Amino acid sequence: MTDPRAEVLATARAMNAAGLNRGTAGNVSLRHEDGFFVTPTGMDYDESEPADIAFVGLDGRAEGRRKPSSEWRFHRDIYAARPEAGAIIHTHAPFATALACRGEAIPPFHYMIARFGGADIRCAGYATFGTQELSDAMLAALRERCACLMAHHGMVVFGADLKQALALAVEFEALCEQYWRLLALGQPVRLLPDDEMQRVQAKFCDYGRQDGGAPAAGPQA
Ligand code: 13P
Ligand code: ZN
Repeated sequence: MTDPRAEVLATARAMNAAGLNRGTAGNVSLRHEDGFFVTPTGMDYDESEPADIAFVGLDGRAEGRRKPSSEWRFHRDIYAARPEAGAIIHTHAPFATALACRGEAIPPFHYMIARFGGADIRCAGYATFGTQELSDAMLAALRERCACLMAHHGMVVFGADLKQALALAVEFEALCEQYWRLLALGQPVRLLPDDEMQRVQAKFCDYGRQDGGAPAAGPQA
């Protein structure tokens, strides 16, 4: 598939099919030239077509026959601040959203937390959807990370491309389900120490590379 609009739409449909999101909640974008393609606001992904995908420049100008996602600000701000971000997925995934409603970070209960750039996954403070305030809170929570929870809202994750962003979103929701189940046990949660999380983070730099090439793109400071 070479049409970037079709790829964005296919990813939005895949995110719902994978149980990561329901209805018109969530949004997906792909960096392109001096801006990004993004899902339109409030439209059913199954009823949309590639031409419904909007383009937004990094300067905030919108193009296309549909209005872009109401969350275009945080998509723009992540692309502007994080050069390694090639695609962004925001969802109201069930387990991530339940945890986000606590307003707390996910601590290093499992080594896979390091996959997202550090020893925890932070939770951005609540702000009304679509606002600059929400975007500012998210950028702070994403420092040195490629994912965060969004209090009383959901989660966001970015990757080098759409495929990686979707895979990370699946991993993120799996971790949230595991943590939710762990909390349900009602016992004190044992955490991995900082030095182990740093070791795991270093291993993730070339994890999954079969070609011995350069490390896969990950979150940068
Ligand atoms: P959009 O339909 O405008 O993308 O909004 C969905 C959403 O999740 C808002 O946070
Ligand atoms: Zn949302």
